[in-house]
Amino acid sequence: METMRIPRIMQDTSKAHILHGRTIGFVPTMGALHEGHLSLIRMAKQENDITVVSMFVNPIQFGPSEDFKQYPRDIDGDTEKLQREDVDIIFMPEISLMYPEGFLTYVNVEKISDRLCGAFRPGHFKGVATVVTKLLNIVKPAKAYFGQKDFQQAIVIKQLVRDLDMDIDIVICPTVRERDGLAMSSRNAYLSIRQREAATIIYKCLIEALDMIKSGIIDAGYIKRIMQDRLLKEAAVSGLDYAGVYDPVTFAELSEIEGDALLAVAVKLGDTRLIDNMLVTPDRRNG
Ligand code: AMP
Repeated sequence: METMRIPRIMQDTSKAHILHGRTIGFVPTMGALHEGHLSLIRMAKQENDITVVSMFVNPIQFGPSEDFKQYPRDIDGDTEKLQREDVDIIFMPEISLMYPEGFLTYVNVEKISDRLCGAFRPGHFKGVATVVTKLLNIVKPAKAYFGQKDFQQAIVIKQLVRDLDMDIDIVICPTVRERDGLAMSSRNAYLSIRQREAATIIYKCLIEALDMIKSGIIDAGYIKRIMQDRLLKEAAVSGLDYAGVYDPVTFAELSEIEGDALLAVAVKLGDTRLIDNMLVTPDRRNG
């Protein structure tokens, strides 16, 4: 396993692999790796000749009052995990090499970046779209892997790849959960024991909404009210950014559930913001 810190060297290495006919699978992360990340890596390893994992806490996707400084960092632990997974290359660029003085270009995916998380984290998806575009141009993968846990992010990336004619397959992998249903997240490390227990409410609320849809309820407003009541009744929930039923293409709120629907939640427990979602397809409704 090699560790690379200089974008130009990473890019030249990728070019050499491609020249030799090898396909590159890419998993972008912010480090503090858990089984969710590892599931993407395993998928990339299965489907490609070379697997590259980036670890970069991207300053431009954090708001001024967000957790960029506190974001968990564990380079030694992460390196060990990646070694065990037999990853070929870790790409860990310096901030100053990703955003050198004079950096002026940003990628903005309109409309879908403004809804859900985008409405509560202004500029977040612009930061994500910009860094992912840069990483894709540096690593040059045939396929890049993203988690459904951050569904809106994955859709924003799919859109930018399509709009900018990038010849890359974006693969969305299922959300990996703890035994009690909580979606794995690097931010779960911020939770106190009490908050960690209370955090299971997010999964319970999604399952309850799914069950309501399965039972034939199509009134999305009703489901949203039940979801929000359930979340706000939990004393450890200190804030509710959104919870409800959305169109999985436009992220507009649904009033009635006819086709596919996205159940999505963003809540705060203390200062920790957690998100989760479930995709409901007509198949799943009848299942
Ligand atoms: P992050 O390090 O949080 O930026 O996440 C890097 C990638 O891992 C993103 O594509 C996330 O969607 C994905 N990911 C994070 N948590 C999970 C999870 N619990 N299950 C599956 N993928 C995840």
